[in-house]
Parts: sequence; C-alpha cells; structure tokens
Amino acid sequence: MKFTNSEKLHQEALQHIVGGVNSPSRAYKAVGGGSPVYMERGQGAYFWDVDDNKYIDYLAAYGPIITGHAHPHIAKAIAHAATTGVLYGTPTRLENEFAQMLKEAIPSLEKVRFNNSGTEAVMTTIRVARAYTGRTKIIKFAGCYHGHFDAVLVEAGSGPSTLGTPDSAGVPTSTASDVITVPFNDIGAFKVALDKWGDEVAAVLVEPIVGNFGIVEPFKGFLQEVNELTHRAGALVIYDEVITAFRFTYGSAQQIYGVEPDMTAMGKIIGGGLPIGAYGGRKDIMEQVAPLGPAYQAGTMSGNPASMAAGIACLEVLKEEGVYEELDRLGKRLEEGIHEKAREHGIHITVNRLCGALTVYFGVDQITNYAEADASDGEAFAKFFQLMLREGINLAPSKYEAWFLTTEHKDSDIENTIDAVERSFAEMAK
Ligand code: PLP
Repeated sequence: MKFTNSEKLHQEALQHIVGGVNSPSRAYKAVGGGSPVYMERGQGAYFWDVDDNKYIDYLAAYGPIITGHAHPHIAKAIAHAATTGVLYGTPTRLENEFAQMLKEAIPSLEKVRFNNSGTEAVMTTIRVARAYTGRTKIIKFAGCYHGHFDAVLVEAGSGPSTLGTPDSAGVPTSTASDVITVPFNDIGAFKVALDKWGDEVAAVLVEPIVGNFGIVEPFKGFLQEVNELTHRAGALVIYDEVITAFRFTYGSAQQIYGVEPDMTAMGKIIGGGLPIGAYGGRKDIMEQVAPLGPAYQAGTMSGNPASMAAGIACLEVLKEEGVYEELDRLGKRLEEGIHEKAREHGIHITVNRLCGALTVYFGVDQITNYAEADASDGEAFAKFFQLMLREGINLAPSKYEAWFLTTEHKDSDIENTIDAVERSFAEMAK
C-alpha cells in the first residue's frame, strides 16, 4: 500500500496548518508518528484516500457518521438546504421540528437549545448550572473528555478531596481549582469529594457510558447513586451524551440505565455529519438561558437549516425498525472474531463493547476506569493500528478511542475485518 500523496499533502499541510491538522487527535502522534492518511471520498462503510486506497471505516469521524458516508437520505436533505439557503439568522420551522424530535426521543429534555459543537453544548450546561445554583465548582470523572473549553481541560489533583490543575497551557489555575476530578465507577471517591465540597458544587458532569477511554459502562447502580448523592448536595447532574445520544439506542444512555439527569449535552450523531451541538433539560433550569433568563448563550450558526435538516434526516434513518439490533448483531460478531483470533495467536486483549461500539485494549484484563485504560499497552496498539491500516481497516489513531460500526457495515465487512485482525495478530505474535 502506498501513501505517497498523503505524505505529500501532509508536508504541505505542515507549512500552513499548525501541526498539519485541525484537531490534534488526527495526528498520528500516539501511533508512531508519520503522515496521517488523507481521505478524499466516502461511501457507506468505506472511504478512499488520495492514493486511491480503500478502507473499511471504523472511525466514523469519531462517532457522528453512524449512517455511513454520504447516506442518500441525509445527502438529499443537505442538498435541499444548500439550494434554499443555508443560513438566515432567523428562526425556522426545521428548528421546531428537530427540537420536538429530540424531546420525543429523550423525555428528560423539557426544553432544548441548539448550538454548534459538543464543546459549546457542555460549556453552556455548566454556565446554566452555575446560574441556577449560584455555586461555582464542578465534579467530573477522570479521563472523560468533554470538549476543549477551559473548565474541562483539568487534571485530577492527588485525590478526590484535592482540586484540579490545568491540563493544558493557557488554562488558568483559578479555573482548574473550581474542578474536582474523581475516578469513574468509584462511588467511595465521589462521596469523599462531595463530603468535602458538596455545598460549593454546582454540577456533576457525567459521561453515562464513557466513550473517551474506550467504551466503559457504569457499574450497576453507579449512575443512580451519583444522581441521589448529587441532588442531596443541592447540585445538578449533567449528562454529556455527545457520543452516547443515539449511539446505542434511539434515544440516550440515560434511558438504557433508567436515570434522568437535570441537563443533557449532545452533539456528533444528531448533526448527521454536519456541525452541531444541543443541550436541554428541566424547564425551570433551561429557563435560566437568555432571552428568558440571566445566563447568556448565543450563536450566529446555531440551529442553521443545513445542520437541522441533516440531523432530522439522520434520526429518521435511525428510527427505522431493527437498526440498533443490527448494529448489536454485527458488533457481537466482530467482538467474537477478535477474541477468537487473539486466542489463536496468544495476544492478550480485553474488548469492551456495547451495541455497535467497541474498544480493543492490549495487555490488560479489565477496563472499568481511566487508570486501567491508561495502563493498557500503547505500543502494541500502535503496531496493531499500523498493520490494520495497511490491511485497509481505518481505526482511530489512539488506544483510548472506540471502533464505531455504522448502519452500512455488512456481514462481509465484518468477516473481512476479522481476517485482517487475524493477519495483524499473526504479525504481532512473531
Ligand atoms: N463530549 C464528549 C463526550 C466528546 O466525546 C466530545 C468530542 O469528542 C465532546 C464533548 C466535544 O465535542 P466537539 O468535538 O463537537 O466539540
């Protein structure tokens, strides 16, 4: 497999774009460096790079592309928006329609507001929670990514009763000191944090199913206990469902576990591949937002007709009968195949999977929190990633990311992927 044109484009990109990429996760820093592959076109479960190599895609653009590339129903909706005007700066009928669709799918959303990215959505829920409670601190869980605004680029202190420190240059220490980070699935540590800071906490920010150190489900009862303890402390529960909304079911993770947060942030899938964010929740809390309330949030592009149309079309596809059952069936077969080949070649792995999303971790027995994911073998993953790429299987270039199946993956794609896994494991075992 040749990557000549990708390499050429990357050299060019390095001259004009900082680091050659517009989001750091696209660089191949975590998988041995070199030029990332430059894609040129996508169709269904496949895309083709600038050297005309074909790949089965499990990146799905880090989650949004659940209906595959260039899905005809979504493409038609976007094309229509393109010919009728993509931005008016006025309200539109589509915003009402889409808001209603989201509310019907996720009952805890009594009121919603659209914006343009997951980062914006989460950022605003925190502002609104602070406005509602009159408190400042937030609690989040270690290793969970919530976007790139200051308050969530914070590292854990030395324990659940210590405040955070900046995880990026440019984040003020004062901002980090408003954030407490505790290990996911550790209710004891969560209680320690609440005992110490409870009456200063505005909100607890939770990925109800973690998607950012691989796919990690909450322990039984964990989310319920977090809800109960948070509310007892007078704080709000915010679910970051930027990855999870419409990923595992037509609706959100909160419905899978039967818990209701006070607010929910969304993004990715709900834009059908176009930029989007949305947040919503209890009416009395959402009414803190301008123009009704004192918490300001706005956006020139918010609720734009193209993103609304793409989002509606995407949910229409996902609402069809059997979509999630099929994702689960194919995901299960892929998981089984990977395990089978690992056993055959003596490769030590753990696979975490839910429905059509999974993560393969090397050299570990279980992953229930960030520390365990961090301890998985990054070098083995890097080798696996590079071998799979050369087999025409595109994975996210990081041991912490998930493989995402789409409605367009077929049995033959899964079997071809398992064959590629077999050859890659055989090479790794040499
Ligand atoms: N929250 C979660 C759980 C995410 O995975 C991400 C992005 O990966 C974000 C928030 C930020 O979303 P965006 O990249 O659209 O700003």
